[in-house]
Amino acid sequence: MVQYENETIKVFQSSLYLTTSAVIELDDAIVLTDPNWLPQEVEEIKAYVNQVRKNRQLYIIYTHSDFDHIIGSGAFPDAIVIASRKLSENKHKVDAMNQVHTFDQKYYLQRNYKPTYPKVNYIVSEDGQELVLGTSTLTFYLAPGHTDDGLFTVIEPAGIFLSGDYLSDVEFPFIFDSYLEYVQSMRKANDIFAKHTISLHVPGHGHTTENKVEMQNRLKFSQEYLEQLLVHQENMEEILQERYIFYEGMKHIHQDNKKLALKEKEHIDQ
Ligand SMILES: [Zn+2]
Repeated sequence: MVQYENETIKVFQSSLYLTTSAVIELDDAIVLTDPNWLPQEVEEIKAYVNQVRKNRQLYIIYTHSDFDHIIGSGAFPDAIVIASRKLSENKHKVDAMNQVHTFDQKYYLQRNYKPTYPKVNYIVSEDGQELVLGTSTLTFYLAPGHTDDGLFTVIEPAGIFLSGDYLSDVEFPFIFDSYLEYVQSMRKANDIFAKHTISLHVPGHGHTTENKVEMQNRLKFSQEYLEQLLVHQENMEEILQERYIFYEGMKHIHQDNKKLALKEKEHIDQ
């Protein structure tokens, strides 16, 4: 399952949708993101966390409330949970857990824990909010657009940027919440790259990269993609097809993105 590792971080990759889960070892804490998806995969992540943990406190960051990202919640009962206020106050908690249940029913999956909606201990309510853990600092930014409860995290001095379901190399922007918020979140990502020294980018789906040109390329493409949604670029579908090897399964989202973007634009123009 291991997609990437160095002395600070190990990134696990699920068989499903190239979904990642990062385990980051800090001096005084272990930070884990979105443990997912399959029961054996969550077990493998848990076994690794227990192996390296020693006496350190475990923190789990949930990047947003899509059910694939919270499916492992319940497997780490003594963790301190970090997430946005919106995730904590989500009105659709029951729906999210029903999706987990439906998924497990559909594929006959049994888990040795009860999936439960994350109970957030540390709430992020503003951009730039900092949490100091020993010699490391976690800086958070609210990232709505994909969902309304997204979260960006920067861990320093390690220089790790955890972007949740933004800036993927295997998905174009999936806009399930708001086009305009998504555009804003990309501006925030741009500010993050300017303000912090990022040496490692871990997206929620896709590949971890140390390559700064690749990081900029991911951001640039997302921004260009968002811009063209309003003007209808003739060859966009071919560009997407070429760029994303799993485009076939996601192309309906491109059509939905276009509709949503134009609807929000009309609303402003009125
Ligand atoms: Zn996702």
